[in-house]
Amino acid sequence: MQITDTAAIVTGGASGLGAATARALAGRGAKVFAVDLPGAIEKAPIVDGVTYTAADVTDADQVQTAVEQAAGAGNPLRIVVNCAGIGPSARIAGRKGVHDLELFRKVLEINLLGTFNVMRLAAAAIGETEADQHGQRGVVVNTASVAAYDGQIGQAAYAASKGGVASLTLPAARDLSSSGIRVMTIAPGIVDTPMLATVSEEFRQGLADGVPFPKRLGTPEDYAQLALDIVEHDYLNGEVIRMDGALRMAP
Ligand code: NAD
Repeated sequence: MQITDTAAIVTGGASGLGAATARALAGRGAKVFAVDLPGAIEKAPIVDGVTYTAADVTDADQVQTAVEQAAGAGNPLRIVVNCAGIGPSARIAGRKGVHDLELFRKVLEINLLGTFNVMRLAAAAIGETEADQHGQRGVVVNTASVAAYDGQIGQAAYAASKGGVASLTLPAARDLSSSGIRVMTIAPGIVDTPMLATVSEEFRQGLADGVPFPKRLGTPEDYAQLALDIVEHDYLNGEVIRMDGALRMAP
C-alpha cells in the first residue's frame, strides 16, 4: 500500500518506537497524527508532518475524537500503528508482597484493551474511505513483544497483555478483511527506548551480548522500518513477526 498522501495514526507517537515510526511515515509523505498522553506530548520532538494529539488509548471518546481529526484532515486515513504501552515489573507473590490486582488490570487496560479500542474505532473510519485499485483501504500494525512467548520474571501482566495482542492478530485480520483492512503485529525483542531507561549500562551491554545477531539492541528505527515494510507489503496479513535478532531468553 502506498504511504504518500495518506493519513496515519501512531499511538505512543511521542516516544520510542512510536516516535520513530511517526517520523518515518511523515518522511515518506504521510500526514501523521501522533496520539499520546499530554505529559508525553509536552516532551515530544517537533517533526515536520507530525501533529500531536492528546488522547488516552483506553478512553473511547478521546480516541474517537483523535480518529475523526485524522480522518478529516484531507488525506484518507489508511495507516494505524499502535505503539502505546507500559511495561511495569512486579512478581506474582514473594518477599515484596503479592501482585497488585489494580496494576495487572492497568497493564491489560492500556496494552490490550487500548490497542483494541484504537483498532476498532480507526477501522470503522478506514472502512468509510475509498478502496485503492486492489480493494485495499488500510492496515493496522499492533505491537506485542517477545514477552508474549518468553515472559521473564516480573512480566506476568505484561506478557499476558502482549499475548493478548498477538492472539488478536488473526481474528482481527479475518474480521476486517471484508473492509479491505490488513492487521499485522510486530513482536519486538529488546529495543533501546525510554522503557529501558532504568537499567544500568552494564546490564544493557549484557542484553546486547545475548542477541545472536546482530550483536546489539534493537533501535526504534529498526521497528519503524519494519512497520513501513508491513504497510507497503500487501500480502502480509494476520501474522505476528518477531523482531529480536533471534534472541531467545532463558527464564
Ligand atoms: P516508550 O515508553 O518510549 O513509549 C510508549 C508511549 O506510550 C509513551 O509515549 C507513553 O506516554 C505512551 N502511552 C502509555 N500509556 C498510554 C495511554 N494510556 N494512552 C496513550 N499513550 C500512552 O516505550 P517503547 O519502548 O517505545 O514501547 C512502545 C511499544 O513497544 C509498547 O507497547 C511496548 O510494550 C512495546 N515493546 C517495547 C520493547 C522495548 O524493548 N522497548 C520491546 C517489546 C515491545
